[in-house]
Amino acid sequence: MAVDTALDGAFFVRWISAAAGLVEREAGRLTELDSAIGDADHGANMQRGFTAAVKAVQTEAPATPGGVLVTVGRQLISSVGGASGPLYGTLLRRAGKNLGVAPQVSVAELQAGLAAGVESVRTLGGAAPGDKTMVDALVPGVEALGTSFDAAAAAAEEGARATVPMLAKKGRASYLGERSIGHQDPGATSSALLFAALAEVAR
Ligand code: ADP
Ligand code: MG
Repeated sequence: MAVDTALDGAFFVRWISAAAGLVEREAGRLTELDSAIGDADHGANMQRGFTAAVKAVQTEAPATPGGVLVTVGRQLISSVGGASGPLYGTLLRRAGKNLGVAPQVSVAELQAGLAAGVESVRTLGGAAPGDKTMVDALVPGVEALGTSFDAAAAAAEEGARATVPMLAKKGRASYLGERSIGHQDPGATSSALLFAALAEVAR
């Protein structure tokens, strides 16, 4: 898909459905990662959130890209009990608000919207790059969207892998101190899935 392609509401619905599919497939791995440095609920949290999000998008049928992301963000905030729900909800809600009511958006506009969303995540959670959180996959993923969807998926995946040697400074994993080192962050791993889903539907 060319970088100047206009993305419509249907594209965003496909993105969220693909993300829900990947979350479903990878839930076991997300929970396994969260059992090492958290409380073993990240897979279930993501499944609950994305199942609710897909259902809401089907019921409310928002027509615009911004409408789809605001609906999904709202569902993630209200249906997920863990820290990741409000954080992912804020990411997508803020991105959706940033896209406004345009019936179609460019990849550059999506990138700008997601960048605003990541800023909101950082404000809400207080995490900076290097703190071993979802931010470590989101920041490089959004940045590489300027190149291509595949580049964004690869960069987010690489960002998630790069959390392995990090010491967790935010969230539950930070309670472990040095013992958080040597494990991949679950939230960074699920963030990479969002970019993988985007690359999948753009193909
Ligand atoms: P909980 O930690 O409440 O059990 P989850 O297990 O669903 O929630 O999500 C954990 C993930 O959330 C972490 O792996 C991390 O990526 C992300 N996370 C936690 N706290 C923060 C924070 N303050 N800022 C950014 N991301 C965070
Ligand atoms: Mg957890």
